[in-house]
Amino acid sequence: MGPGCIRENSKLFSRLGSKAIIVTGSRSSKLNGSEQDVRAALECEGIPYVVFDRVETNPSVQNVRDAAETARREGADFVVGVGGGSPLDAAKAVAILAVNNISDEELFSGVFPSKPLPVAAAPTTAGTGSEVTQYSILTYYAIESKKSVASEEIIPQLAFLDARYTETLPVHITVNTALDALSHAVEGFMSVKSTELSDFFAAEVMKILGQCLPCLTDVSRIDFGLRERLLYASMLAGIVITHTGTTAVHALGYQLTYFRHIDHGRANGLLLYEFLKFLSTDFGGRVGAALDYMGMRNLEEFGDLLNTLLGPKEDIAEEEISKFSSMAADARQIPFTIKAPGFEDIRAMFSRSFSR
Ligand code: NAP
Ligand code: ZN
Repeated sequence: MGPGCIRENSKLFSRLGSKAIIVTGSRSSKLNGSEQDVRAALECEGIPYVVFDRVETNPSVQNVRDAAETARREGADFVVGVGGGSPLDAAKAVAILAVNNISDEELFSGVFPSKPLPVAAAPTTAGTGSEVTQYSILTYYAIESKKSVASEEIIPQLAFLDARYTETLPVHITVNTALDALSHAVEGFMSVKSTELSDFFAAEVMKILGQCLPCLTDVSRIDFGLRERLLYASMLAGIVITHTGTTAVHALGYQLTYFRHIDHGRANGLLLYEFLKFLSTDFGGRVGAALDYMGMRNLEEFGDLLNTLLGPKEDIAEEEISKFSSMAADARQIPFTIKAPGFEDIRAMFSRSFSR
């Protein structure tokens, strides 16, 4: 972690292989210097590379299959993901598909005939923590939602955290991605899979973000130091979900992203207050502890901060809420919530999240 960490540690790339594929989005990594730094580091080590720079936001299975085809054709033996969560997740899927000729079902099973290629990751948003997780989340048209590939074999071997790349993020993406990181920590803390260790990381993230989030309401307070804190917290929150996975907020949020194209982090941020309110009746102590870590006096103060950060909310029709609720109710993550919401709870959560 730190400014210049990619070029300063170029030697680490030679441990991963002898030809790289850089997997990135179409624009931002060229503007913030991250792609150039990876190219320079590989060139410094005399490692040839090819670039796939057509990763979509919320990448689809077809999109990562196209990138894997490039990797295979060019004979790449390791993958460098550069960008937000979308390119990092795409890089992990490419690592699998470049060496495995498998169906979509086999891809999502998380068990592969051949060991995936090694992955290095350079995040340029501060939110997903994908640089440290075992997940690659893909848009899967067959189920009209997003679906995770989970395998320890795709945890990146290297992660480079240089907050300079995040300086080009517009405020709304800075906010949305920070809310994604907060969601990972809060959901991990409210998961049946939480442990003393994951709680330790979650508490640290909530403390850092509790200090950082209010600063995001005032552009003049968004400086480099703040961006480094956000990037660090996002990575720690990635460690949390590596242990716990996500819960109801992500399960509901995926419907908003798939059908309404609401950014992943914003979708989670919209739902967080109602999620904690729902839990507070049976798990008031746990919710109180989370609010304490964030430095919030009560749930209402947290809700008000979220509302300020999120600005005007989207209109959402009753029919949409019904459709999203029945889809979310079947989601894999729901039973991992310490108090699993049923269909009517989910419906209320969606509805109130847009009306508060
Ligand atoms: P993203 O989809 O990667 O990027 C969103 C937008 O931000 C894109 O237009 C991108 O442009 C732009 N962008 C990225 N870095 C930028 C920078 N430094 N300056 C200016 N613009 C920049 O957003 P994300 O929120 O980071 O990732 C969301 C994805 O991650 C979702 O698919 C979500 O499901 C997944 N996710 C994964 C995990 C995990 O553990 N694997 C956890 C949470 C979320 P370009 O397209 O030009 O790059
Ligand atoms: Zn997320």
